[in-house]
Amino acid sequence: MVTENLQAIKQRIENACKKAGRDPREVKVLLATKTVPADRIQLALQAGYTLIGENKVQELSQKYESLQPLQPTHHFIGHLQTNKIKDLLKYNITCIQSVDRFDLACKLHHRLQAQGRTMDIMIQVNTSAEDSKFGVAPESTIDLVQRIAGLHTLKIRGLMTIGLLSADIEQARPCFRLLKQIQQQIKAFNIPNVSVSELSMGMSGDLEIAIEEGATIIRIGTAVFGKRRYPDSYYWNESAYVQ
Ligand SMILES: *Cc1c(COP(=O)(O)O)cnc(C)c1O
Repeated sequence: MVTENLQAIKQRIENACKKAGRDPREVKVLLATKTVPADRIQLALQAGYTLIGENKVQELSQKYESLQPLQPTHHFIGHLQTNKIKDLLKYNITCIQSVDRFDLACKLHHRLQAQGRTMDIMIQVNTSAEDSKFGVAPESTIDLVQRIAGLHTLKIRGLMTIGLLSADIEQARPCFRLLKQIQQQIKAFNIPNVSVSELSMGMSGDLEIAIEEGATIIRIGTAVFGKRRYPDSYYWNESAYVQ
């Protein structure tokens, strides 16, 4: 199933790119692997996909070793608590897409500095204004970017958002447009140490709309691996968090 599903995703990306007049090579697929066992992730890696993202450090640590032979590129896409930074940095993570507050950035910076490392990050923006989702408020994004720009171990590469989840996928479009607008505003500031070329937006349901609105990374879980056992509130809503 996984390989057929990947084929279907590839087709959807090609169709969306055609419609939007974009080159499919501009759109990277990140496999959102929360709750997916390592052996199923391996199938996707064997099919040639390389970019994967976990939401929880604990799940990353459980699957990391068994995926290493296939050399995936790991992004972290979940809400990151400051007390999990140390654990997260034990793994070879290429990018943390979910940086959404200055105190988190500071703590990350201090750990990275001590280890003599740098880290690519993205700023997660709450474009749907839902309380249940993480991310910096749209109007506070530039301020946050400017402050983080002063932390030399953190390399801002782009912006990430989760579009409004609704039966009507068009509801996500204004979220993606807003992220693109914020990207343009940040670019106009020409902030040293900041490049916001990546837009990580679009998931299984709304990837076509995200591609039309300029996504460079789409994050796909369900459409590749099937329905998850846990509701997404387990990952996205702090009040539903179980530690
Ligand atoms: C789970 C998840 C996805 C993938 O969602 P699907 O609808 O299953 O494709 C994308 N981004 C984040 C941050 C996620 O937690």
